Amino acid sequence: MLPSEADLQLLFARLNYERLNGEAPACRIAYNERFSNSAGRITYSVRPLLIELSPKHFRRYPEALEETLLHEMVHAWCFDRYRDTGHGAIFKKKMREVGITTIYHDLGSVRELNESSKRYIFRCEHCGFELLRKRLPSKPMSCGRCNKTRFDKRYPLAIFEVLETRPLGTTLERAAQKGRK
Ligand SMILES: [Zn+2]
Ligand SMILES: [Zn+2]
Repeated sequence: MLPSEADLQLLFARLNYERLNGEAPACRIAYNERFSNSAGRITYSVRPLLIELSPKHFRRYPEALEETLLHEMVHAWCFDRYRDTGHGAIFKKKMREVGITTIYHDLGSVRELNESSKRYIFRCEHCGFELLRKRLPSKPMSCGRCNKTRFDKRYPLAIFEVLETRPLGTTLERAAQKGRK
């Protein structure tokens, strides 16, 4: 059984107190049923910050939930302090401090996630249009479908980090799942 969203919020509060010295900024924790290829993500463009977790993923790997939430909380902390959103030096140092030894431990021999394999999704909350990009934008962006001619702050694009470092089962299991559909 997955914890309810209210329980996730309590788990956030407990992890914040126990592991982050209460320094994580306020976050709303929610499930997102539409996630299929990522376990969790954080949205920096809303207040409070939004952390979303994949119920599909954690029904299979319930033991990974706490660490994934903590991973996203470290992102929240890095963003709050340094406006840092990556898996670079600041993230890695804090990650070790809170007791996550590595983000790669379940990946076996797969190479380390590097900057070039990071992904972001930009989504227009107005029309649902989504873009996948490797980099964060250097200037504000708005939805190119809602206003084709110019930047329009009525249609901001929300930014989501795609966390690609969580196990989604083996390729065999994935193939079997597809076959069942
Ligand atoms: Zn739009
Ligand atoms: Zn991350």
